[in-house]
Amino acid sequence: MKDYLSLSIFELHEALIKKEVNPLDLVTLALAKIKSDDNNAVEYICEKEALLMAKKLEQEEPEINNIFWGIPYAIKDNFSTKDILTTASSRLLADYVPVFSSEVYERLNKAKAILIAKATLDELAMGGTGSSGHKGQTFNPWDKSHTRMIGGSSCGSASLVAGGLVPFSIGSDTGDSVRKPASYGGLVGFKPTWGLISRYGLFPFATSLDTVAYFTRNVTDSAYLLNLLAGHDPKDMTSAKRQAINYVDKLHNKQSYVLTVIDEIVETISDHYIKNTFINHLHLLEQQGFVVKHVSIDQKLLKAINPTYYIISSAEATSNNANLDGIKFGMYQEGKTYEEMLFKVRSLGFSDRIKRRFVIGGLALLEENQQEIYLRAARSRHLIVNAFKRVLNECDAIILPASPTVAKPFNEKIPTKSFDKSSSIAENYLSFGNLGGFPSITIPLGFKDNLPFGVNITGDIFTDEKVLGIAKAVEDMTGLKDLIAGETR
Ligand code: GLN
Repeated sequence: MKDYLSLSIFELHEALIKKEVNPLDLVTLALAKIKSDDNNAVEYICEKEALLMAKKLEQEEPEINNIFWGIPYAIKDNFSTKDILTTASSRLLADYVPVFSSEVYERLNKAKAILIAKATLDELAMGGTGSSGHKGQTFNPWDKSHTRMIGGSSCGSASLVAGGLVPFSIGSDTGDSVRKPASYGGLVGFKPTWGLISRYGLFPFATSLDTVAYFTRNVTDSAYLLNLLAGHDPKDMTSAKRQAINYVDKLHNKQSYVLTVIDEIVETISDHYIKNTFINHLHLLEQQGFVVKHVSIDQKLLKAINPTYYIISSAEATSNNANLDGIKFGMYQEGKTYEEMLFKVRSLGFSDRIKRRFVIGGLALLEENQQEIYLRAARSRHLIVNAFKRVLNECDAIILPASPTVAKPFNEKIPTKSFDKSSSIAENYLSFGNLGGFPSITIPLGFKDNLPFGVNITGDIFTDEKVLGIAKAVEDMTGLKDLIAGETR
C-alpha cells in the first residue's frame, strides 16, 4: 500500500473522500508503523480504541466538509483522555487512567480524527531534551544513529510526525516545547495566542505560560487545526472569547509584511551556516516585497529571559503539582501520617530533575524569599514583555532563527550555570513568546549535514492569522514543507 501517512492532512483528506483509502486501512498502517518504530516516541498505543473508531467510520460516508474525518493523530501524554492511560511520563502517574477528557481531545473526537497513540514527553512537560520521561530518551528520526535528540518536552509528538507515522500531533508549549523540537525535526510547530485554545484537561505545568500547541508538516494544515481547536470553552477560566476566524481563508491574503529582526539574538549564534542561511533568507524576503527592520534589545534584558522563565515556571509548577500526593490518584505508598505518605510517593515518583524544579519553585514562593525571587521575576517578566511589545507595535512580526544549532547529541555536556552567558540567549529566547502569550510558529528553514533547522515568527497577541500568513509566505519561498525524515518527496 502507498505510504498514505506521509501525506499532509489535506492530501489525506482528498484520498479519503475519493475512497482511494479508508480509515481502517489508515489505522492498520499507522499501528504497524508505530509498532516497528524504534525512536521511543510512545507511552501507549491506542490500538483497541483506534480500531473501534475506524470500524465505526467504515459504516459512514466520508465527510467532504470535515478535513479531520478519519485522520490518524497522536497526542502528548499530558492531555487527559477518558479511559485511556495518561502518564505525563512520570513514575508517579504510570497507571493513571483519567475519568474525563481534555477539551482538545473531545474536539478531535467530535471531528472524527482517530487517536493512534499517547506520545511520550519529558516528565510532566518539564524539560527540553526528550530524555527525562520515565521511558528514557526519544530519538530524532532524522538521525538514524540514535545519538541525537528530537528535543522536548513534546518529543514523542514531534518524532511521530517527523518520522511519517501520523500527519499531525498535539503537544504543549510552556517555554518552547513545540517550537524547538519543530526546528530539530523539520516540522511546523505552532503555539497560538495564550487562551485561544482551551487547556481544560491539559496537565498544568505553569498556568500563566502553558499553551496547547501542535505539529504539522505544513502551514496550511496548521491553519486547519486552529480552525478546529480555537474557541471559547467555559470549562477553562482563561479561555478567550473571540470571534471565530477562518484561518485557512486568511492565509491567502497576500500582503507585504513588515518583519523585525532582533540583532542581539542573531549575533549570539555561533554556527555560521545557520546564521548565514537566516540572513540570506532575509534578503530573499526583501526581494519578495517584505520590509525587514533591525532593532536592538539590551543584552541584559535578553539574558534575563531564561532565569525569569525558570523562576516563574518552577514556582507555578510547584503550586500546580501539589495535588500529586498519591492519595487521590497515582502511585500509592503506605505511611502513618499524610506527610510520610507524601514524602514517600514524591521521593519515589519523581525524577531528580522534577524535584529540583519543585525545590526552586518552593524557595521562590517562601514568604521570606518572595520579594527577592518570585516578585523580582514577575517584575522582570513585565520589562521583557514590554520591550517585545514595543517592537511588535512597529511591525507585523518578529523573525529569528528558531534554534542556534541543529538537533543536539544526547551526550553533549549542557552547562548548568549558563544563565549569564550570551551564548544562552539564542538557545532560550523563545520563551518570550510564553511570557507575553504571543502567537509563535517555527517552520523549516534549511539543512545542515542532513539535519533540519527552523525559523521562528512571533506576532502580537491575537494576530494568529497574520503569523500564519507570514509563515505561509516564508514556506512558499523556501519550498520546505511536507518533510519526512529520510525521505525525498
Ligand atoms: N525547556 C523548557 C523547560 O524545561 C520548556 C518546557 C515546555 O515548554 N514545556 O521548562
